[in-house]
Amino acid sequence: MPSKNNKNTRKSGAKKSVSRAALRSHKPQAHAHKQAPARSGKATKNHPVKIKMPSKAAEHGEAAGNANVKQAEEARKNEELVGNNALVKAINSNIGHGAMDVLKLLAPGPKTDESIAEKLGVKVNDVRRILNAMNSHSIVRYDVNKDTKGWLIFTWRIDSEKLSEYVAETMHKKDDADSMLPGNCNDFFICKGCYQKEKTVLPFDSAFEYGFVCISCRKPFTPLSREETVALFKTAN
Ligand SMILES: [Zn+2]
Repeated sequence: MPSKNNKNTRKSGAKKSVSRAALRSHKPQAHAHKQAPARSGKATKNHPVKIKMPSKAAEHGEAAGNANVKQAEEARKNEELVGNNALVKAINSNIGHGAMDVLKLLAPGPKTDESIAEKLGVKVNDVRRILNAMNSHSIVRYDVNKDTKGWLIFTWRIDSEKLSEYVAETMHKKDDADSMLPGNCNDFFICKGCYQKEKTVLPFDSAFEYGFVCISCRKPFTPLSREETVALFKTAN
């Protein structure tokens, strides 16, 4: 299945995301983690601190155990969030109907964009568009690694904290059409052909990730002002 053409698109897709990666580096967290133990060992004249030095083996075992517990806890939290009706409605209307399928696959743990595409039977580029649109809402993140041939591999995961904030926000936004729209956006896009069925209205950032073309029928989006979008919601109800 993987062809030369496929790899080319993969490389160009990767380039775009690398610059995004530079904006959100994961490195500071890793450093903070390494430095943390030193701080707790600080002693003062009046309060000397005795430090128990764990053996190397115990240290490693504990770290791996903690990582597993943390991952299981996050997976449990993700599954709960992904089943929330308010979230499903918000994701369908703000990011598009394919997005929930992607989120459900990511709930148990991180996955590459290619494995998501394979599982869903959709094009990798469509999965990347959906992931980038969700990334613009900060609810998913990715790590980049190189495979043995030097191609970049993108591993995506849900940011549980951001997703739960997103759920809390969407649960507060009810009924009032204007408050359902993101406050900082005045440009919205719909697909005239699919709106009746999908009820998806994309804010600028998400529409940009889709190249201003509907992911369901490949027709160009129609732009709407904020006022027109609110009016559309009112006539739809
Ligand atoms: Zn469409």
